[in-house]
Amino acid sequence: MASTFSASVNQYVDRAADLLGLEQDIRGLLADPYRQIDVQVPIHADDGSVHTFRGYRVQHNGARGPFKGGLRFHPETDLDEVRALASLMTWKSALLDLPFGGAKGGVTIDPSSLSSRELEAATRSFTHAISGIIGPNADILAPDVNTDARVMGWVMDAYSSQAGWSPAVVTGKPLELGGVPGRVEATGRGVVSITASTLAALGQALTGRRLAVQGFGNVGRHVAQLAAEQGAVIVAVSDVSGGRCAPEGIDIPALLAEAVPGVLLHEVPVGDAITNDELLGLECDVLIPAALENAIDGTNASAVRAPLVVEAANHPITPEADVTLRDAGVTIVPDILANAGGVTGSYFEWTANLTAFRWSEERFNQELLSFLGRAFESVWVRHLEHQVDLRTAAYMVGMARVAEAVRLRGLA
Ligand code: GLU
Repeated sequence: MASTFSASVNQYVDRAADLLGLEQDIRGLLADPYRQIDVQVPIHADDGSVHTFRGYRVQHNGARGPFKGGLRFHPETDLDEVRALASLMTWKSALLDLPFGGAKGGVTIDPSSLSSRELEAATRSFTHAISGIIGPNADILAPDVNTDARVMGWVMDAYSSQAGWSPAVVTGKPLELGGVPGRVEATGRGVVSITASTLAALGQALTGRRLAVQGFGNVGRHVAQLAAEQGAVIVAVSDVSGGRCAPEGIDIPALLAEAVPGVLLHEVPVGDAITNDELLGLECDVLIPAALENAIDGTNASAVRAPLVVEAANHPITPEADVTLRDAGVTIVPDILANAGGVTGSYFEWTANLTAFRWSEERFNQELLSFLGRAFESVWVRHLEHQVDLRTAAYMVGMARVAEAVRLRGLA
């Protein structure tokens, strides 16, 4: 049991609960999900046969507002993974002081093996299966690994076909369906802003810092682009196929022109080839894991040479690797702070949908940076006051808010 993903997250929950001196009954409530469902997701495949997948939605804690969190499609996703990620969403939303609880969804499916019609059918089938527990004031979905605006549009339509026009049931939608400009870049923009704030707190500037980015999905590619625009030197990037590197800095506009979504980095003729393992051990100022969970574990943590690691993915470092890195003096900026730009952007989209009001991209980005700046400040202050690492400080801020909401509502 101790090795499961959700048990790993609960180690962090326990540590922060100890430091906050939380009572035993509230601790138990916070460690456990409110509701988890495991549903059948049947579709008619293109050849006419019926394919059946499994789908999950876990609602972790709703004391501060409707459940909120992404939906991922991945061949290896399972209920335990979704449960762990739902818990992270609770602490992330609370840390950003958003009026949301935490949730996550997943379908065990390999989107690259499905046609667009099959993917749409799976999305609709899953949405219908969970439609009784989601809604604009109940549980709001969003993009996550292997899901994008197109998928969110299908979720919105499938739900709305039962409940009536409901754009606020899902965020990260296409602009034409109530999406807001800025949301696609928001997670990456947040990672860059939190990286800059951390460097500034350590007495350094982002300009001229050498960054290595592992993962080139929506988050990794925007981190590389925005950080390069702000003067950072991107020395390496990678995806599942391997990566590209250049000690003097990769020409990111040239790379992005070649590496359009769907093209793997090993096919792109920019910079030199590098493996994912080599990237993790590269000499650089900031390492940014932006791929999947547990990328840095007990086997490769000691290879990391960057003094600062910023978690753009959710849970890219195992608790064991977290200890190894911290013992080696590495500063780790935790996922629930570093990648919170996504759910913060989702909050703006949700409020825009509920009020039927359009936000400009300028206002979106301005508000995003001010929410992230406040969250960074609260974590940094807690870290100094309590002499704890940034992850523990971030959990303490988020958990104290959730625990207080639980108490005030009289749920425990
Ligand atoms: N999937 C993203 C995350 O893990 C965004 C969630 C959301 O916007 O609700 O934070």
